[in-house]
Amino acid sequence: MYDGHNRQINYLRVSVTDRCNFRCAYCMPTQGVKLLRHAEILTYEELLRVIRVVSEHGVSKIRLTGGEPLVRRGIVDFIRSIANLNTITDVSLTTNGSLLAGMAAKLKDAGLNRVNISLDTIDPDKFRNITYGGNVAETIKGMEAALAVGLTPVKLNVVLTNIISERDLAYFVDLVHREPISVRFIEYMPIGESQAGPGPGIEEIKVMINAFGRGTLKPTLNIRGNGPAKYFYLPQAKGSFGFITPISEHFCGVCNRIRLTADGKFKPCLLSNQEIDVKAALRQGASDNEIAELFYKTIADKPQGHTLANAGGQTKFFRKMSQIGG
Ligand code: SAM
Ligand code: SF4
Repeated sequence: MYDGHNRQINYLRVSVTDRCNFRCAYCMPTQGVKLLRHAEILTYEELLRVIRVVSEHGVSKIRLTGGEPLVRRGIVDFIRSIANLNTITDVSLTTNGSLLAGMAAKLKDAGLNRVNISLDTIDPDKFRNITYGGNVAETIKGMEAALAVGLTPVKLNVVLTNIISERDLAYFVDLVHREPISVRFIEYMPIGESQAGPGPGIEEIKVMINAFGRGTLKPTLNIRGNGPAKYFYLPQAKGSFGFITPISEHFCGVCNRIRLTADGKFKPCLLSNQEIDVKAALRQGASDNEIAELFYKTIADKPQGHTLANAGGQTKFFRKMSQIGG
């Protein structure tokens, strides 16, 4: 399925909950966030129906996100039911990793293919501060469990804020030498109010990585991969580094995705307030064709590109990142 700008749309990111056991400074305010009522959240049956319908119209890749997807009860069986759809070829998950150690084997067994884990720093105090209570050791255990059971390729998401230090970069450089892991640095997107200060730029990070004396970062042949990150490698490393630059160099031209929020809205673009209500249709007895039409409308409404940088960060977003899923 192609949109009006010749982009193939084959990827749906599904937020299964707006709840989270963390409160990352750049994502979810510690106070004043209005959580959805239970009845407002799509049931697993509803989510699965939407996934099945869009998969019959060209979507083959599903990523579950949140909030924190592993806090929703029944997530393992839900993943199994998605993986059982023969129209879906890839089921992945983005998680803060805190509950992953105890769940990785079950998730793998249910048919989950791979995970992205958010890890902004390895400093226990800074991690606790930025996540508002998280324990970095649990996230690292989660990462190790994901590698051990083969939820691969494992990717780390590191949002660039002022907490990142040389010690973190030394850990990541060592990690990509030891493990086939991709460490991806993500520019902070000004959605909502962040308590964390701006971090180093991508070029600064590259210079710092090169300064460790373990070789110079070289772009991979397929620099863009299958998503927004540009990938680079160090000569002896098993893993790689990725750079995701929604602000300084946006990748809207290759955007292949749409989003479904936990309260049942299709979003054509992460960085736009536009939404299409699927929940109302589902709950008013819509046919599969009618749901497919909403999917087509979402694709038709996909903007050519976001305007965040040009707007100087002035766009007012209705949702926090935790209410969309990143
Ligand atoms: N709870 C899961 C997690 O943290 O991985 C999944 C949901 S979280 C919203 C998805 C991704 O969005 C995470 O990698 C997180 O670091 C990233 N994210 C959240 N707020 C962001 C922001 N303002 N700018 C850039 N990335 C952000
Ligand atoms: Fe929760 Fe993920 Fe947002 Fe952190 S980034 S508050 S873990 S949803």
